[in-house]
Amino acid sequence: MELLKKRIAEEAIVINNDVLRVDMFINHQIDVELINAVGKEFHRIFKDCGITRILTIEASGIGIACAAAQHFSVPVVFARKGRHKNVGDDVYSSKVYSFTKDESTDIRVSKKYMLQSDNVLILDDFLANGSAAMGLVDIVRQAGARVAGAGIVIEKGFQPGGRLLRSEGIRLESLAVIKSMENGFIEFE
Ligand code: 5GP
Repeated sequence: MELLKKRIAEEAIVINNDVLRVDMFINHQIDVELINAVGKEFHRIFKDCGITRILTIEASGIGIACAAAQHFSVPVVFARKGRHKNVGDDVYSSKVYSFTKDESTDIRVSKKYMLQSDNVLILDDFLANGSAAMGLVDIVRQAGARVAGAGIVIEKGFQPGGRLLRSEGIRLESLAVIKSMENGFIEFE
């Protein structure tokens, strides 16, 4: 997606060759116009897949998932990190290792909001080692539902998440794939 790549090239900040900061339009301040274009693009890619629900993970995935969901007219469910009174104990859960925080957390989704009949589109902001996305896949599979595909805004292609998802038979569609970020220079695939 050219518009997204342009914004990354012009504004994103590379930290330590492997973390990209995009807090100016996705992770802290949100450029709604850009995120709406991202949502529209995910709809263009997955519109014929019979999606019944979009699943993401808090917090940064939520805006992206909502932008896409408007076009699919399906509900968004976001996996919560840790225990929440709003979610209760009747949940599907999975362990996710946080790339940015360097710690493991349990993610939870209420069984009410993931049904065996669901055909689920997983959306997230970044793909690095694939732990967050695989945690979401695990939750969908625990429910006996189907993963229609995974849509990622920024995939770091030099990290193993993409390979992991594809080896699990997941259709992966990333809107911008970064080949390398050596010495602060961002190269796209
Ligand atoms: P993974 O689970 O694939 O290792 O990492 C994906 C999750 O970690 C995403 O949900 C995202 O929030 C965060 N993440 C991974 N890499 C980056 C990065 O380079 N920049 C930012 N801002 N978040 C990242």
